[in-house]
Amino acid sequence: MSTENFQKQLKIDLHSHTQLSDGQLSPEELIARAHTMQVDVLAITDHDTVAALESAHAFQSKQNRPLTIVNGVEISCSWHGFDIHIVGLNIDPAHSNLNKFLANQADIRHDRAIKMGEKLVKCGFDGVTEKALALAGKGQVTRAHFARVLVADYHVASMDKVFKKYLGKGKRAFYKARWPEIKNAVAVIQQAGGQAVLAHPAHYDMTTKWLRRLVNDFREANGDAIETVFPGIAADKRQIINELAKEHNLLASAGSDFHFPSRWTELGRNVQIDDALTPVWHNWNFAHSG
Ligand code: MN
Ligand code: MN
Ligand code: MN
Repeated sequence: MSTENFQKQLKIDLHSHTQLSDGQLSPEELIARAHTMQVDVLAITDHDTVAALESAHAFQSKQNRPLTIVNGVEISCSWHGFDIHIVGLNIDPAHSNLNKFLANQADIRHDRAIKMGEKLVKCGFDGVTEKALALAGKGQVTRAHFARVLVADYHVASMDKVFKKYLGKGKRAFYKARWPEIKNAVAVIQQAGGQAVLAHPAHYDMTTKWLRRLVNDFREANGDAIETVFPGIAADKRQIINELAKEHNLLASAGSDFHFPSRWTELGRNVQIDDALTPVWHNWNFAHSG
């Protein structure tokens, strides 16, 4: 069997979250679920933190079934008024520049949390920030933490409602954070030995014209790969993204963007990339996956 055929049989999921950002499973629970779902290669890509990786590896080292854990991160960037996510794969989580960069991201997140909290007070919700920060614990605080607090303690009907009414882009308690530029995120990922991947390119609520411009700028910033498979991608968008990957000579990545078990997302589900594309893992060494 050729190496290529062997790799095609692996279930490879390169985008997932834990409780250290806005996921709902602990690192251990995430790894256990990857085993249940027969995933062979899993990237843990929490928002602006690598804090889940150590416990995930420690837990995996005690398992009988092989699983390759890819050290990852999902970095928030600002680009022409859009919040863009850049995933780093196979980064060294101990790299000092990366850790300085992520410490700055944590500051931006904390500042955003305070600002959102102030706006929520004006909407009649007092004390949400403290609860959201407590819920996030040692992980990165996200809008999802605010949403969970509002649903649990302030009688807002659902997470969906929180975003539609308060925390979504342009809504009453939305605060636009000033994230770093894409090129800085790409650079720090690559300094830390990783590959930079443009995350879920169909999820930025932009026209195809803007999407083309984004992919072009990402390539010019020396980006390595683009997610061509992710949840909720429509067939026409998928076609466009496949073509953009080819046009710009970008490697293709795939991930479930798993946050918690639901009807819509599951680890390792629908992660097959188009045969005509070169996978981001084409030169990885899967020796540890057995
Ligand atoms: Mn998330
Ligand atoms: Mn994202
Ligand atoms: Mn994500």
